[in-house]
Amino acid sequence: MKIIKKSNIINQIVINNKNVGFVPTMGTLHEGHISLIQKSKKKCSITIVSIFVNPKQFNKKKDFLTYPKKISQDLKICEKLQVDYLFLPSFDEVYHWKNKKVIYPKIDKIMEHKFRKNHFKGVLDVMSKLLSIIPNSKVFMGKKDYQQYFIIKNFCQINNLKSQIVPCNTIRSKFGFALSSRNLLINTKSHKIMSKVYKTIKNYKKNNYLKKFSNSKIKNLLKKVGIIKIDYINLINLSNLKISKRISKKTNIFIAYYLDSVRLIDNI
Ligand code: AMP
Repeated sequence: MKIIKKSNIINQIVINNKNVGFVPTMGTLHEGHISLIQKSKKKCSITIVSIFVNPKQFNKKKDFLTYPKKISQDLKICEKLQVDYLFLPSFDEVYHWKNKKVIYPKIDKIMEHKFRKNHFKGVLDVMSKLLSIIPNSKVFMGKKDYQQYFIIKNFCQINNLKSQIVPCNTIRSKFGFALSSRNLLINTKSHKIMSKVYKTIKNYKKNNYLKKFSNSKIKNLLKKVGIIKIDYINLINLSNLKISKRISKKTNIFIAYYLDSVRLIDNI
């Protein structure tokens, strides 16, 4: 595995190769990231993983400063997975890169876009740079961050980028909750509550299949398992990311809630 810190060097490597797989991350890698890397290894001739904690997408400075960092562990994981190139750019390497003018998609003011001001502006800022530094690749992204995946896919379409966004399933702990780097900030005792949140939503969906979604009913059920602070809990149509009324195969329940003052998102 080669470690690359310069944007022009990784760009040259991409230009000189075909069938490149790219896994953008913010590090502190876990089984979720690993599944993306493995999918890229399977489908592509070379795999690039980037680790860059993008300050622009954090709407709270404290959240950026406390974001977990485990770079030496990440290096070992990538080496073990036989990643070809690990791209570790600085802020300037990313943001001083000159890319073609792009347009940002219109985003409905729901979910993360409603509750985290400028978050997706920051995500689009970094992805427009990364997809220009590493162009025309297959980009593996997790459905755990479904709204992000949807927006980036849309961004590529409206700008006619040749990057192909590949959605990947959410990897969960054996207790059901979605793996996330932020879980490290949560007391292990609270993991039990996270698993109850998952089970509550899953059972609610199963028991109300093809029925009307009730925001207040599900909030009450979550209150019983100890979740008091919820930014949103919405039933969403996966094909257009609009709020849906009836639970079906086409919909997921999206949630952002707080535990030990840490904000967690999932969609089930
Ligand atoms: P992050 O490092 O949190 O920015 O995530 C990098 C990529 O990994 C994104 O495409 C995420 O959606 C994806 N990801 C994060 N957690 C999971 C998970 N539990 N399962 C699958 N993909 C994930």
